[in-house]
Amino acid sequence: MVDRLIGKKILVRGIVQGVGFRPFVYAQALANHLFGWVRNTSKGVEIEISGTRKDIEAFLNGFKFNLPPLARIDTFKTQTIPVGHYSSFDIISSLSQPEDFLPISPDMSICPDCQEELFNPNNRRYRYPFINCTNCGPRFTIIQGIPYDRPLTTMAGFPMCENCLEEYQDPFDRRFHAQPIACPVCGPQLYFETGINNGVMGETALSTVRELLKAGKILAIKGLGGFHLACDASNREAVQELRNRKNRIAKAFALMAFDLISIERHANLTIEERQLLQSSERPVVLLERVKNSLLPYDVAPGQNTLGFMLPYTPLHLLLLEPKEGYPEILVMTSGNLSEEPIVYRDIEARSRIGHLVDGILFHNRPIHMRVDDSVTRIVNSKPYILRRARGYAPNPIIIPKEIPQSLATGAELKNVFCFTRENYAFMSHHIGDLDNYETMQSFEEGINHFQHLFRINPEFIACDMHPDYLTSRYANNKALEDSLPLFRVQHHHAHLAACLADNGWKSDQPVIGLTFDGTGFGTDKAIWGGEFLLGNYSGYKRKYHLAYVPLPGGDVSVKKPARMALAHLKASGIVWEEDLAPVRALSEDERKVIFTQIEHHVNSPLTSSMGRLFDAAASIMGIRQVVSYEGQAAIEMENLIDTEEKGFYQFEITKDIIDPTPLWMLLMKDWHLGVPPSKLSSRFHNSIVELSKNLCQKIRSETQCNTVALTGGVWQNKYLLEHTYQKLKNDEFQVLFHRQLPPNDGSIAIGQALIAADSFR
Ligand SMILES: [Zn+2]
Ligand SMILES: [Zn+2]
Repeated sequence: MVDRLIGKKILVRGIVQGVGFRPFVYAQALANHLFGWVRNTSKGVEIEISGTRKDIEAFLNGFKFNLPPLARIDTFKTQTIPVGHYSSFDIISSLSQPEDFLPISPDMSICPDCQEELFNPNNRRYRYPFINCTNCGPRFTIIQGIPYDRPLTTMAGFPMCENCLEEYQDPFDRRFHAQPIACPVCGPQLYFETGINNGVMGETALSTVRELLKAGKILAIKGLGGFHLACDASNREAVQELRNRKNRIAKAFALMAFDLISIERHANLTIEERQLLQSSERPVVLLERVKNSLLPYDVAPGQNTLGFMLPYTPLHLLLLEPKEGYPEILVMTSGNLSEEPIVYRDIEARSRIGHLVDGILFHNRPIHMRVDDSVTRIVNSKPYILRRARGYAPNPIIIPKEIPQSLATGAELKNVFCFTRENYAFMSHHIGDLDNYETMQSFEEGINHFQHLFRINPEFIACDMHPDYLTSRYANNKALEDSLPLFRVQHHHAHLAACLADNGWKSDQPVIGLTFDGTGFGTDKAIWGGEFLLGNYSGYKRKYHLAYVPLPGGDVSVKKPARMALAHLKASGIVWEEDLAPVRALSEDERKVIFTQIEHHVNSPLTSSMGRLFDAAASIMGIRQVVSYEGQAAIEMENLIDTEEKGFYQFEITKDIIDPTPLWMLLMKDWHLGVPPSKLSSRFHNSIVELSKNLCQKIRSETQCNTVALTGGVWQNKYLLEHTYQKLKNDEFQVLFHRQLPPNDGSIAIGQALIAADSFR
């Protein structure tokens, strides 16, 4: 019996270009005796095939397995068409449509094949710091426009040599259409500058840099998405010197080690942590520090974790290649001053960070878009993102329903903005805290780039309700300029919607949202942050919230937990006894000022912030009175937890108000009895877990709502998240927490967009 031939047309959307997708299709078609063609379009990849039903089925099945590592299929549409007259299967020329768009791959770490070639003396790319292929290398940071082709990348200035061109054109080569393809003959080169001499190139640059790092020097190193500041992590003086020069007092430094074996000397690794460290995203992973680690305390002061990443570029591998007497672990912190954005242009590196370092290792491949390293940890045995940048952005988030094209400008701190088109939300990489001119510039650059790259014409704009956020002002101006409607979205409602979107939540059923964070502008103009909401994409009710306390002096009290402690104690009618840690931490004058500010309501906005409750607790326990970075007090308190301790304190609930007075009374009593901070910290954390469970039960009994979303910056706390999750699960709740996006303000833009879309219709 002869099988009849049939024809099929297929459109694949997702990350399918520049990732070896057409050669994959080509090989599949040949293996299954099919005729036809495959091509790139500005929408995705289009395929036409003719063959027997059986062969076509086998071909289609092939897409379920063995996809190229960087490919990601979002939609896969097939239709039956008349059988075509083909005598072969071909890769045909691309079709470009000016309106169409498609997602772009993030930058990906060096693949095992390229790593093997890098260290193989017989390979023509032996020790070449810019080796890459279709499965790895720079993408997002070098792309200037679409279609993703070499002329629209920062590789445009490097014409391919004959050998590279041959590989580039051969469908059976693993560098077929690898746009950043390069070799020592035709590609980018290293260049090291010390300011004194004229600089050195190539291997000499590399060996000079290694010598200087060994000697305890601090260097700037140009990477994938910007410059790092690097030094030998085991050299205490170098680490302290770097802290002084960078003006970074206590925030932990990111570390890079050659392999897992080196990391294991300093941190305990679970299977999930190993996988995350080795994933092609190669984020920084927060790991539990081992007791006998020899790394100096100054690498991560006050913490029992270390943030490690593995090398993600060939250059990093060459810098860390094991060699007797040379640093095994490098501090690799963002090249910037304090909280400014990461420096990414050569000229900026000389002018802005040149004075911080003893030399700069450059290369001549320009960076088009700056992107920081991502930061993650494992929570509930799954990757949990704290800062979403390199390796993850600009991977789109699939939103549960299609909404009009839009821009949401996000929050003021940890800013990430969001563009939507069809069912895609393009969340930007982490932009940073918009409290300086440079970060604001980075924000605007990013917005212009995303809009251009994904060809988006917003029909509306969404922003935070806070009138003074720079992101709100920017949104307001842009809405006026482009005559677009502007929607101002309440901060914690945006958190709730972001958590729903992150979990692909389609339903209109409201959920209970435990939105705990530091700061968010409320509808009553108070600063919210300890909120039990009940809501969905279209609205919310504020069911319970922490009792308001004054924030004496505003931001000063955010930087000084001791002030927050006094405010809380006063609100609970507890006397400021002389022996209390926060009282001892503040001068008598300052205490008088605080007292007056609270009594006379002078510059003392009201807040229900959960972040500030943590600050006050850390202060009362004597853990931290002044912070140098956001969340420091809470992080240090979390680090002290004694996991054996099961005790907890009570809150008093009156109507919709959560009053911490009983908690403070009991905590103070324990403290007076000399209970150690490790136990106090556990009891405090357990109190929040109990409170969460009790109020969720109350809301469920009133509303039958059984789903809880845990969102907001406070949920970066691993102990709190894991324990609350387990408590709620044990009580049959469905519990949502963040998966693809961070729980902090880095995710609210997507929530803003979805909430605004609901009003826009
Ligand atoms: Zn590769
Ligand atoms: Zn070449």
